[in-house]
Amino acid sequence: MASIFGHGIVGFTLARVIDVHQAKLLILFAMGSSILPDFDVIAFRLDIPYVHPFGHRGFTHSIVFALLWAVLLMFTVGKRNKRTWFWVIFLATLSHGILDAMTSGGKGVGFLIPFNNERFFFPFREIMVSPIGVTEFLSEWGLQVIYSEFKFIFIPCFVVFLVQYFIVHYNKQ
Ligand SMILES: [Zn+2]
Repeated sequence: MASIFGHGIVGFTLARVIDVHQAKLLILFAMGSSILPDFDVIAFRLDIPYVHPFGHRGFTHSIVFALLWAVLLMFTVGKRNKRTWFWVIFLATLSHGILDAMTSGGKGVGFLIPFNNERFFFPFREIMVSPIGVTEFLSEWGLQVIYSEFKFIFIPCFVVFLVQYFIVHYNKQ
């Protein structure tokens, strides 16, 4: 994983930029959805191997999972604004695997599960993999994670906000 902050900020940015109404509930669900795939770390406790389809970075990090989760929310909490909910939740959930595939450690991401169990990384792997425990996070390692995420996640998100701000501002004139 990138850290929960790194994942969460991407969900936040997607919701703010895509949803013109900027509904608070959608922002919350988008941030939650961008972190959700890592609930699969429970696989380690259940003795499911990392490379198993239900292992860490497996099914919950796949395109199919993001689709199913987005459809589920679109027809429940998001039913009054289905199309926006679908796109925000789908992209927020999928963004998790995309960030993981750019991290420096762990195994690759099973984007194509259940059709293909291969694990993928992108050629660009500059985001430092984040420790899972809190004590490890408060270390030199944690600082390096924050620095790499600042460069490769926070700044790009900030640029997206700036671009959107100027587009909206420009259209008002
Ligand atoms: Zn992950």
